Amino acid sequence: MSKSPVYFTDFRTQFGLTQCDKLVKLIKKAGIEDLPLRDSFAAVKIHFGEPGNLAYLRPAYAASVVEVLSSRGARPYLTDCNTLYPGGRKNALEHLEAAYKNGFTPYSIGCQILIGDGLKGNDDVELPVPNGELLQKAYIGRAIADSDVLITLNHFKAHEMTGMGGALKNLGMGCGSRAGKKAMHNDGLTKVLQEYCVGCGRCTKACAHGAPHVEHGHASIDLTKCVGCGRCIGVCPHDAIMAIDGQANGLLDKKIAEYAAAVLNNRPSFHISLVRDVSPYCDCHSENDAAIVPDIGMFASFDPVALDQACSDAVLNAPVLPHTALEERRNAESPCNHFTSLFPETDWEIQLNHAVKLGLGTREYELIRI
Ligand code: SF4
Ligand code: SF4
Repeated sequence: MSKSPVYFTDFRTQFGLTQCDKLVKLIKKAGIEDLPLRDSFAAVKIHFGEPGNLAYLRPAYAASVVEVLSSRGARPYLTDCNTLYPGGRKNALEHLEAAYKNGFTPYSIGCQILIGDGLKGNDDVELPVPNGELLQKAYIGRAIADSDVLITLNHFKAHEMTGMGGALKNLGMGCGSRAGKKAMHNDGLTKVLQEYCVGCGRCTKACAHGAPHVEHGHASIDLTKCVGCGRCIGVCPHDAIMAIDGQANGLLDKKIAEYAAAVLNNRPSFHISLVRDVSPYCDCHSENDAAIVPDIGMFASFDPVALDQACSDAVLNAPVLPHTALEERRNAESPCNHFTSLFPETDWEIQLNHAVKLGLGTREYELIRI
């Protein structure tokens, strides 16, 4: 397979030239207007940010993308699916409220917002997974499955279960309905390492399924209730929770790639990632830890694999910022890459390699600076 073009621009501006101007120039140069946009229902898949999190992408970036789509005759809408865990985005009413509070309104972005899998997360469509190795079908939010064109607008960052999160993560996990998210997570049943647990109870608050409970100062997890969402792993301040199956994160990564394959199958698509506020954890947390590397820039491509690879390389080659989780966790004497330093149990490349195997793109790219 030949190299895929990935277009890039940094965040530098001059008087009279805004970051949004640069984003518009970038996506036009990368070919977004070549999509069959006229009269299409064009889904723009984005993460509206968990209430409290401040690392999510600002609405003005989305408005710029929407303006380009509308100018070419498309009918764009912003969309995301509900979460599997408690928080502010677990049903469509709360999800819309969270989006509005974070500044995404029809007035600020220039289009409507549709929660992809409906009021309670069960409005989905069963789509085949072409060449699926682990899954044959995927449950995709109906408002995304029904789109004619799909654009992802991704906040690229590190991620506790996948190493890094970009276009594939936004496509695969993000387009899955509640049933879809459960299917992707179901290898991830968790256990508590008693020697590290201090009985703080944070895991009990984070779990939507009532699986962890604290007794005599230590937590344990009821496996008849656990769905393997991994939420408790991220909130435990003492790293006392881990997946029972050591392969769980790798299987999750592969399933995310398979869900991405299902949603992209024969659907015209285009992908945009902004590498800024590169937090160590997912934007699904209601807090965001300090960025681990400096803001880098904006990337766009028709190839989601090449895009994720280009963003990963940019982060891996960036200097470590002081006073961050990355600085705390990396071993200066035997340094490994940023994602592995943060999450040694997670192989961030599995998702990319599986996506290549599924024919979603290539890890080989040509970076075109504009
Ligand atoms: S969050 Fe961690 S330390 Fe706190 S009770 Fe749960 S397992 Fe124990
Ligand atoms: S106990 Fe299971 S269901 Fe509950 S947050 Fe942890 S992984 Fe998710």
